[in-house]
Formats: sequence, structure tokens, C-alpha cells
Amino acid sequence: MKIDIAAKSADIIREADVLVVGGGPAGIGAAVSAGQAGLKVLLLEKNGFLGGNITASYVETCNYFMKNTPFHSCGVYSRMEAGYREKFGRSQDIRPNAPHRFNSENLKIYLDTFVHSAGVEILFHSFVNDVVLKNNRIEAVIIQTKQGPVAVKAGIVIDSTGDGDVAYSAGVPFEQGRDTDHLCQPGTLSFRVAGVNAALLMENGEDKLAEIGRKYKQDYRAGKTGLTCKRQDLPFGRMTAGGQISYVNYPCAYGIDPTDIADLSRGEEECRQYILEMVKYMSKNFVGMEHVELSSIATEICFRDSRRFVGRYKLTIEDMETDRWFDDVIAVYPRFYDMLAPDAEMDGDGSVEGKGYKGHIYEPIEGNRSFQIPYFSLVPEKIDNLLLSGRSISCDHVAQSGIRAISACMQTGEAAGAAAGISLKSGVAPVDVNIAELQNVLRTQGVILP
Ligand SMILES: Cc1cc2nc3c(=O)[nH]c(=O)nc-3n(C[C@H](O)[C@H](O)[C@H](O)COP(=O)(O)OP(=O)(O)OC[C@H]3O[C@@H](n4cnc5c(N)ncnc54)[C@H](O)[C@@H]3O)c2cc1C
Repeated sequence: MKIDIAAKSADIIREADVLVVGGGPAGIGAAVSAGQAGLKVLLLEKNGFLGGNITASYVETCNYFMKNTPFHSCGVYSRMEAGYREKFGRSQDIRPNAPHRFNSENLKIYLDTFVHSAGVEILFHSFVNDVVLKNNRIEAVIIQTKQGPVAVKAGIVIDSTGDGDVAYSAGVPFEQGRDTDHLCQPGTLSFRVAGVNAALLMENGEDKLAEIGRKYKQDYRAGKTGLTCKRQDLPFGRMTAGGQISYVNYPCAYGIDPTDIADLSRGEEECRQYILEMVKYMSKNFVGMEHVELSSIATEICFRDSRRFVGRYKLTIEDMETDRWFDDVIAVYPRFYDMLAPDAEMDGDGSVEGKGYKGHIYEPIEGNRSFQIPYFSLVPEKIDNLLLSGRSISCDHVAQSGIRAISACMQTGEAAGAAAGISLKSGVAPVDVNIAELQNVLRTQGVILP
């Protein structure tokens, strides 16, 4: 059944050169980069704070997979991290600290200033779910507010919403999940606990949390835990001397369409039950956690993948495995894949070969293996003044499990922001920007390119 919605007119509350929708890693990269080009930039974010999954889902660990590798971050990400460190140091983290972990509450505060200092205006509580199209261009973006719909006009729009809500509204074709059944990776509702015996858990300088995580996985596989969540891993984030573990990445709901409200509702409730079970389990089974208390649950269930839009180029796992070089390269990133089994089927070897999808596909960084991301996977089909960024760029499902990394998302955002600047200044559509100029701008921003 369908019902017609009456046409409405909306006030145009802002006009910008570049409009970035979504203030997660990709949106921060895009907004700061476009701001540095001296453009009038507006950033819209549905939450009341920036950071996307880093803050909303407590993913403070960001670059943990780069530990003990020759890789380090660059561009906007490295500036963000350096500025944060100067202000907040090691985030009270007493675990071995390589690489850096943020305190996501401090990061929320820091990001306001970091993004404003690039001359960017931010509007929070701005959920975008509609556009006005004219001649294959987005003429205006519609924000749903408490006061009804309002509009923003911009020369170029960068979609950094993770799920690609702007591109979706504009009718850009997309794929979602794995090819066989369109299942995405599970949604996760992270949580924090207080009341752990931090001194005991770090006694003699040994990080016992890592050992607890390893033992948990063995016990789960041996059928010993009795827990109902199908997640086998138990990664912990920061631990403070005051007895807080600030990130427990455990409750996972499987088979959720990240864009369907009934699925999302099921996921939220299911994960809350898993949290209850796990906190009880921790207090009974883990050393130093006898007095553990649930202290907070993340803002909402968060996702690693959802829509992937059809762009001028689709980055594939084959490109990544063969280290394909692109003339339009805008990011070089350590080659790794991390895809939690979409169907919770954990028995396979989890290898990338044959795109098996059995088990958790996890290939850590090996040596200095890397892959390139081309500019044309940020340029969508169909709409002339739109750019993609972050986890919804044009790529296949397994490739997405590499490009979804937080600092990679910030790099694709940074490239989109720089491209928007060149496009507007030279009066050409994003698809026609001078690639050599784009690469030069990125290099001057500290992005490492060949
Ligand atoms: C539990 C979990 C653990 C993870 N662990 C790691 C890790 O350790 N390391 C790592 O590198 N990556 C990790 N990831 C992946 C990583 O967090 C994401 O891939 C990354 O955050 C994607 O960045 P993004 O900017 O594209 O999207 P997001 O982080 O999803 O940000 C999107 C932003 O847009 C906003 N938004 C969404 N829709 C709208 C709309 N319609 N209107 C306005 N605003 C909107 C959101 O509120 C959000 O702020 C993890 C993900 C999860 C869920």
C-alpha cells in the first residue's frame, strides 16, 4: 500500500559552495579539506556531535591494525590525531598504547574546534533524506528538522553519511551486502563498563585484557560460554586507572538491513540483551571484573557496511590483491580485510580466496603490501555535482572491508573535498577535474601518494 505525500515548499536556510552531509571520518576529511581551499563549506550532521562511528559507536581504537607495521596515517587524519594528542595526551589509557586510542568524549569536544578552524560551519540535528534535482544536479538538499523540512543549496554536495542517504535520495544506483543474499556485516552496539580492577589487569606490565579476549574466543568455540550472541570475539579498547573499559566491541545483531527501521529496532533490542548477558558473564568469569558495572551503551547500533554506490569505477578485490596502480590514485592504504561473517557462519577459514564468506575474513597487514583507491570510485553515476566518500564509495563487498577503515574513509573524504574545490574554482564538473592538480593539492595537504 502507498500514500501520496503532498508537495511542500521549504525555506532555503543556507547557501554554500560545498555541502558535506555526515560528520563521521569521511565528512570530517571532506569538510576540512574543502575548507582549506577557501570555500564556503557547510557540514550537516544528524547527531549532536561529530565523529561518526568513532564517537557514536565508541570505535576509539581506529588504527589498531597498523600496530607494528611500516604504515602510519597521513593528511587530515594525522593532523586530527596530533592536535588531539597535544590536548588530551594518551586519553588516560593504561594499556600498551600503539597505535593511539582516543577518548571519544574528549574527541567530540576537540572535533568541534578542529573542523571550525578550517572555516567550516556545522549544523547538528540535521537529518537529510531528500533532494531537489534539476538537470542531473542536486539543486538543494532537504533537512528534516523539528520545524519541518528546510533546504540548503550548494554547488557541490559530498555524501559522507556512511549509508549514502544523499546519493540514495538522488536515485544513484547501489549494491548492498554480499552478492549472494545482500547480507551486510552485523550491526554492533558497543558499550562501556566501570568498576574493573585495572591494577590487577595490568599487573607486572602485562595486558591481561588481551589474554581474556583470546581465552573467551576459545571458550566460545568450545561451546563453553552459554551466551546467545553469535559474536566470537571480544575486543576491548582503552582501560583507565580509574577502572573503566571504554569500548567493548561485542554485541552483534546479524541479518540486519542497516537502512530498514524494523530491522534496526530488532537489532537495538537484541544487542541490549546481549550486553546484559555479557556484563553478567564478565563479572562471573573474568579476573579483575568481579565488581564490573555497565556504565554506558553507544548512541545507536552502528554498521561497517551498507549501500555501495555505482561510480565511474568500481574498486575490486582483484585490484587490491594485485596492487593495481591507477592514474587517478587519491589514496594508498595498507592492504588488509576485516569482514565479520554476514551470516554468523564462523566455521570456514575466513580467507579471501573464492570470496568464501565463511568465517570472519580477516587478513592483517603483511609487510608493506598496500592498495590504491582511484578518484573515479568517488564519482557517482547519474548526478553531476555529487561526490561519494567513506564506506559507501564504489567498490565490491570484500574490497569494502578494506576501504571501510576509519583513516581510509577520512582519506576518501579528503580527496572529495579537494576535488570539490578544484571543480568549483576551475568551473568544471567533478568528473572532469584535473587529476594531476588534485593529486598535487592532496600532496600539499600531507597525503602520501606515489
Ligand atoms: C563496532 C565497529 C567497530 C569498528 N572498528 C573499526 C576499527 O577498529 N578500525 C577502523 O578503522 N574501522 C572500524 N570500523 C569501521 C569504521 O568505523 C567505519 O567504516 C567508518 O566509521 C566509516 O566512516 P564514514 O564517515 O564513511 O561513516 P560513519 O562513521 O558511519 O559516519 C557517518 C556520519 O553521517 C551521519 N549521518 C548518517 N546519515 C545521515 C543523514 N541522513 N543526514 C545527516 N547525517 C547523517 C552519522 O550520524 C555519522 O556521523 C568499525 C565499525 C563498527 C560499527
